[in-house]
Amino acid sequence: MTITPVASTTHEEIYRVADTATGLIGYIALHSTQLGPAAGGLRMRPYSNEEEALVDVKRLSEGMTYKNAAAGLALGGGKAVIIGDPGVDKSPALLRAFARAIHSLEGRYYTAEDMGMSPVDMAILAEETPYVAGLADGEFASGDPSPVTARGIFNAIRTSQAHQSGSGDLTGLTIAVQGLGHVGYYLCGYLHAAGARLIVTDVNHAQIDKAVAEFGATAIAPEAIYGVQADIFAPCAIGGILNAQTIPQLQVSVICGGANNQLATPADGQALHDAGILYAPDFVANGGGIINVASEIEQISNRADYVADKLSALDLTLATILNQAKVEDQSPDAVAITTVLAKMAQQSAA
Ligand code: NAD
Repeated sequence: MTITPVASTTHEEIYRVADTATGLIGYIALHSTQLGPAAGGLRMRPYSNEEEALVDVKRLSEGMTYKNAAAGLALGGGKAVIIGDPGVDKSPALLRAFARAIHSLEGRYYTAEDMGMSPVDMAILAEETPYVAGLADGEFASGDPSPVTARGIFNAIRTSQAHQSGSGDLTGLTIAVQGLGHVGYYLCGYLHAAGARLIVTDVNHAQIDKAVAEFGATAIAPEAIYGVQADIFAPCAIGGILNAQTIPQLQVSVICGGANNQLATPADGQALHDAGILYAPDFVANGGGIINVASEIEQISNRADYVADKLSALDLTLATILNQAKVEDQSPDAVAITTVLAKMAQQSAA
């Protein structure tokens, strides 16, 4: 395994990780350790080239800096990616080689699950390094973060809807959910229980069939989700889906979901604001998962209370951001970034 620094003017540290024996090629990016060790998940995807993987890890690790600060965690922002199809290219030897790279950073970066990774994979990484969270077993193990991510998004949807319409009651509202994976499916459970009508899509038909059967959801084709008439749109699949092509199609008044980096560019946040669509910044709405992971990194014994307290505080942070955005006639995304940068400046001065 080789780990080679990559020069960067935007990130504290970036490394390319390679291992000829296992075919491993990946990156680890530490955007900021200002608030604590950089923490963020490990993603495995069939990126079409290394440049695409590098762009992704840089963007995602920066997002983690903001997410961790918004969630009030003593953690900086980091992320890791491996190039490959998790169903084909993932092997214990490849994961162990990557874990040795994480270990060589001596605790400046903690990893956990992201797309293409499971608690079983985390257990393999943990054979080589203690800087892993999201484990299924162990004294402080926090397991799959997705249910807590979904709980946080559910809170954020109610808060956003209350901000936009005066009531956070979701009974009878129509909510369009894009992506029925770990986060999206749990979210559908919460929304269904709250009396919302669901319109769902996924590229995986089995997940759609399940949601139709379990929640009475209406299924639509993936490309039809943007133009669907609904009260709320919850993107829970991939990033960059709020862009110049999709925004003009939207027929909703609130967007709040779990996917990371939903805005293709900051200008798209402004475009949503100009269109009168309330966008709950993703890195605030989806902080539940990292809160759950943080309980493991910080070795918290009473995880349930820790998670509940941090989720309530996060919800309050979102409400404050939305109010400030309204008063200042700014996009919530711009206000959220200013808010976390101020939080970081305050904490580093203290
Ligand atoms: P997942 O891989 O389990 O689910 C993603 C789902 O989206 C899959 O069912 C997939 O088939 C579907 N999908 C992919 N492309 C699609 C498309 N074009 N249209 C419709 N559906 C599509 O991932 P997840 O863990 O549920 O995470 C979903 C998103 O939330 C990701 O962006 C992830 O980074 C983010 N996120 C996840 C967590 C977490 O705790 N898992 C925490 C924070 C953020």
